[in-house]
Amino acid sequence: MYAQVIVDIVHENVAGSAAHPRTFSYLVPPDMKLSVGQRVEVPFARMIKEGVVVGFTEECDVPPDKLKSVRAPLEDYAAILPCLLTLARRMAEDSHCSLAETLRLMLPAEMRGGRIQVKQQPVVQLAIPVTDVDEAIAKQGRSQKRRMLLTLLRDGEIHTVGDLKMLVREPLEAIRQLEAAGLIRMTLQEVLRRPGGDAPEEPVPDPVLTASQQEVLDVMLPDIAQGRGKYLLHGVTGSGKTEVFIRLVRHVLSQGKAAMILVPEIALTPQMVSWFRARFGAVAAVLHSRLSAGERFDEWRRIRRGDARVIIGARSAVFAPCEGLGLIVVDEEHETTYLSDRHPRYDARDVAAWRCEHEGATLLLASATPSILSFAKARRGDYTLLEMPHRVGNRPMPEVTLVDMRKEIENGNRSVFSGLLTQKLHECMQRGEQAMLLMNRRGYNSFISCRSCGLVMKCPNCDVALTYHLYGGDGQLHCHYCGHVAPQPEKCPSCAGRYIRYFGAGTQKIEEELHKLFPNVSVVRMDIDTTSGKEGHAKLLDEFRSGRARILVGTQMIAKGLDFPRVTLVGVVAADMTLNLPDYRSRERTFQLLTQVAGRAGRGTLPGQVIVQTYKPEDEVIVAAAQQDYRAFFQMEFDRRRTGLYPPFTILSRLLVESQSERAAQIAASALHARCLALLEKHPQWKKRVLMMLLDQPSVKVLRGKARWHVMFKLLVHPETEAFVAALTEMAREPFEGADVYFEYNPTTMM
Ligand code: ADP
Ligand code: ZN
Repeated sequence: MYAQVIVDIVHENVAGSAAHPRTFSYLVPPDMKLSVGQRVEVPFARMIKEGVVVGFTEECDVPPDKLKSVRAPLEDYAAILPCLLTLARRMAEDSHCSLAETLRLMLPAEMRGGRIQVKQQPVVQLAIPVTDVDEAIAKQGRSQKRRMLLTLLRDGEIHTVGDLKMLVREPLEAIRQLEAAGLIRMTLQEVLRRPGGDAPEEPVPDPVLTASQQEVLDVMLPDIAQGRGKYLLHGVTGSGKTEVFIRLVRHVLSQGKAAMILVPEIALTPQMVSWFRARFGAVAAVLHSRLSAGERFDEWRRIRRGDARVIIGARSAVFAPCEGLGLIVVDEEHETTYLSDRHPRYDARDVAAWRCEHEGATLLLASATPSILSFAKARRGDYTLLEMPHRVGNRPMPEVTLVDMRKEIENGNRSVFSGLLTQKLHECMQRGEQAMLLMNRRGYNSFISCRSCGLVMKCPNCDVALTYHLYGGDGQLHCHYCGHVAPQPEKCPSCAGRYIRYFGAGTQKIEEELHKLFPNVSVVRMDIDTTSGKEGHAKLLDEFRSGRARILVGTQMIAKGLDFPRVTLVGVVAADMTLNLPDYRSRERTFQLLTQVAGRAGRGTLPGQVIVQTYKPEDEVIVAAAQQDYRAFFQMEFDRRRTGLYPPFTILSRLLVESQSERAAQIAASALHARCLALLEKHPQWKKRVLMMLLDQPSVKVLRGKARWHVMFKLLVHPETEAFVAALTEMAREPFEGADVYFEYNPTTMM
């Protein structure tokens, strides 16, 4: 009997290609029991390596004297479930990488290389029948400790020595004596590290469902019973989507199956976790990157053993090792965090759909602002569309007012706050309520805008804003889709105004201005700088939730899933900020962001108001967002993508080169570009599908100390394109002298 093993090494010569993953055959010693999916230690080129058993054969063409034996299994169970092994194979094929790489996705990182150990503690229990205990106690003579221990163990349960120590002082000697007498047994038991403790919070009574919540359940429950169906739930902010998830999960559990809830980022959805903990207690497991290594490993094992049957987690939790899956929910499905664009690339939504199909489960994507991609699929019939168009309890949608910032400038107001926003902030503070202010500034670049007429400097070829590089730039404006370069204007080319400059104000500036306006009001700021560390988000959010802080200022991270009933005012400081980011998705992002952040207002019994400041109040995206009209936005954007040849009608991708040396990066990128040209000459059928291929320096020229260059592609969606993509992927896998090459497919950003 021979075991076929995928060795955990990704070097191409070892790993083989996606189509032909290289397995190595090993002898299985006669007394060793192994199953498919089990991790093993194997000798490999004079080293000991870890690997995964992917199959068994009766024959093997390696000469017997060359054949080596499996050294030992790493665990006594299969770490990779059969369905996940199939998934890993499939992903390796789809993303043109090795099986060793996709298998890594299926395991907690710290499990590899034996970097994490199972934690154990001593426990004791009776070794005699409970009915004999009284007699044994009577025989213990004068030892108070032994009598007490036996009395405590009389319930027949397993007790940890730690617990016993709290009741019996220094019990070890007595325990040993009882053990020697054969009355009790001491063993080691695994301890699971539970993130955030395991006490379920106060049990919460179920609210009466709203009519639309009930309708959604009525449609979905029969499919859940059958283990099928793909749904897209479009429910406005505050329509009570979470309650729907809870009821569905409960139904799934009652059928003895498991459920998975994916969220964009756990730290930003603490309420989801606490709601699920409150309702489901210890059967709920949480998986995300901010857990300690030990916690993550233990949660993973609770899932693997079937002890945790409700899994809440971020992107990578989609690979959780649960059997008998009945439901996967992808909440806020429009979020880009579901995409992993680095090798091996995957979209958690696609993986979720795949698992549902293969494991007989129901898929539910949910959002107040579904992605253009998902909504298009729903319209095509790939998903069943469900809608919850009203807020719970007939609460009105917040009223959105647009403020034209050009007029503020005309009237001599150079502050970041308009007159109206300042006034509303004052009123809100006077009423003792809370406010949230969004300043969405991200990335390393900014665009140039005229503060008098609102003109944004755009690329003449591409209909995207030109960027000005705040850090390390050359003082020029760049289009990073086509490479067009323009000098920074002194005066506005449209109105000749002199207030043409880049948007620079960030959250910190806003915080300062707030301190001037409201010296006695406590303000919390949430952005990348203030939320590092394991509990960074939680502390700040607690400060706000408790009411100690009255204003929350933040970047897009405050727009997601938060539910604060006392927030009655939401201000968006500069709505255009994201609209003009040089990315074909910037309109979609802006619409999502404005709708989501507006949805944070008026979630309690108090009505909410939203002030959106903009230099372009007539922009159709801003108008649709102010009216919270998703369908109008979808139609506009879908048509624009078709005419402009953007995804989902095309594929945008690139070969990205990073190197310590700028010159090496450029040389590598030029070489790749030349090879691509040659490939296309050789394959005219591929060439027809290439709408654009460009060698260029990305707008972020240096990242984490590495110089960057790229070759960008715009490709038609077509079967021939897949072959070209495969060739590009292979190209990126070959080692390059002094440079790293990555292939990115519809990446979240081309910067
Ligand atoms: P969404 O995720 O759709 O924006 P949430 O799930 O956060 O909305 O729900 C909004 C609020 O409504 C929450 O405070 C939630 O507890 C409450 N809620 C949900 N369903 C009901 C219901 N049937 N009855 C009363 N309150 C509800
Ligand atoms: Zn351009």
